[in-house]
Amino acid sequence: MTLSDPKHKRVTIIGGSIGGLFAGLFLRKAGWQVDIYERVPDEIKSRGAGIVTHAPLFDALRRIDAMPDGDVGVAVEGRRVFASDGVVTGSLPFPQVLTSWDRLYRLLYDRFPRERYHQGRSLISIAQQDDEVVATFDDGRVIRSDLLIGADGHRSTVRMQYAPEVQPEYAGYVAWRGLVQESALSPDTREALFRHFSFSLPEREQMLGYPVAGANEDMRLGHRRYNFVWYRPADERTELRRLLTDKNGNSNGMSVAPTAIHPDVLGELRSEANRRLSPQFTEIVHRTELPMIQPIYDVTSKQVVFDRVILLGDAAFVARPHCGMGVTKAAQDASALFDALTEQPDIDRALARYQAERVPFGTRVVQHAQALGRYMQAQIASAEERRAAEIYRTPEAVMKETAASAFLEDYATSVAH
Ligand SMILES: Cc1cc2nc3c(=O)[nH]c(=O)nc-3n(C[C@H](O)[C@H](O)[C@H](O)COP(=O)(O)OP(=O)(O)OC[C@H]3O[C@@H](n4cnc5c(N)ncnc54)[C@H](O)[C@@H]3O)c2cc1C
Repeated sequence: MTLSDPKHKRVTIIGGSIGGLFAGLFLRKAGWQVDIYERVPDEIKSRGAGIVTHAPLFDALRRIDAMPDGDVGVAVEGRRVFASDGVVTGSLPFPQVLTSWDRLYRLLYDRFPRERYHQGRSLISIAQQDDEVVATFDDGRVIRSDLLIGADGHRSTVRMQYAPEVQPEYAGYVAWRGLVQESALSPDTREALFRHFSFSLPEREQMLGYPVAGANEDMRLGHRRYNFVWYRPADERTELRRLLTDKNGNSNGMSVAPTAIHPDVLGELRSEANRRLSPQFTEIVHRTELPMIQPIYDVTSKQVVFDRVILLGDAAFVARPHCGMGVTKAAQDASALFDALTEQPDIDRALARYQAERVPFGTRVVQHAQALGRYMQAQIASAEERRAAEIYRTPEAVMKETAASAFLEDYATSVAH
């Protein structure tokens, strides 16, 4: 089938988060009739907090005319490592812009037509008949289109139907995350932390943090917030279960709402901060009102195209957050799909090209993030694995590799040859 016939250019996107919106805006630019279906009934509220940016994210925003005139986020000049006594033991010039999930979501959501963004609609199943994709939703509605994009996150319903064997694999550690108001911090801590992307490196753990905009994208001094992520090992059968059991004694699978975290667990988090982190980061943990806990997963797909159904963003690959690539990768997936569909008139060939590009790329990002985080895993199989893991434990390696995209340059070179 070629794409010159306009009536064959209907696309259904499942998931209206960052990946779905990037895909929607790119495909509208390519002339497709796009409808996004999002399970959450109201406007999606903040997921996590800080987002690291990389050059390809800005390229993608520019390509869909979503790059704002003002700042995308807060700029820092470099990186620092704090020892447990608060002394700076390493530094690296590394200018970078740190933004937030809310900021990116709004940039995209505000550009997508409201009447084509359908909220409170959850995909149940998909059938493919005669070059048409038929999607059935929880309210019984059936939507037909020429292409369906699963941008429905790491537990993707779309992926579960086409590749049920691909499951999120727990990495052996969790991330505690949180945001604290700049104004709630002592002058010394503000001075130490707000111009850099900083780390504290207790044995087999990693604390990192950076400044982000305040409420309503406020970037004024004194009105910003500080975002932290503290990685800690947690054995799946014992410690993880305990951490995720809520204050009423209920265990709800692999997550717990921040307001339901057991007070004993929060108390321990704060006392562990006293024991293990630099004083600046200890203060950050103590002043954070609602810390969140997220188990860390890997998702690796071998296939991202199933006839006229494709996977994109976290539905296709989830890399541990150490390269800070989740949002950038979703934007690149959407950008690559646009290129394939606009440069290749035959849809099957275009989708084959998307798969040929995105599977090796996603696999590379997942593997690199695994290497960066391996030393924090609760269990490491062998001494050899532990030795390999230690390469990325030094302050120099942590500063150079975390939330950095230099490894992609090697990847681009290897693909080009
Ligand atoms: C600790 C941590 C730190 C991170 N830090 C960074 C960072 O610094 N930089 C970065 O780029 N990324 C980071 N990420 C990852 C980033 O948040 C995601 O990769 C990114 O948001 C892309 O997600 P997505 O749109 O593909 O999926 P999601 O954001 O998960 O969205 C999926 C959407 O699909 C909807 N949905 C699900 N099922 C259905 C259904 N059946 N029907 C309809 N809708 C459905 C959901 O409601 C949701 O809105 C981090 C992640 C974690 C856990």
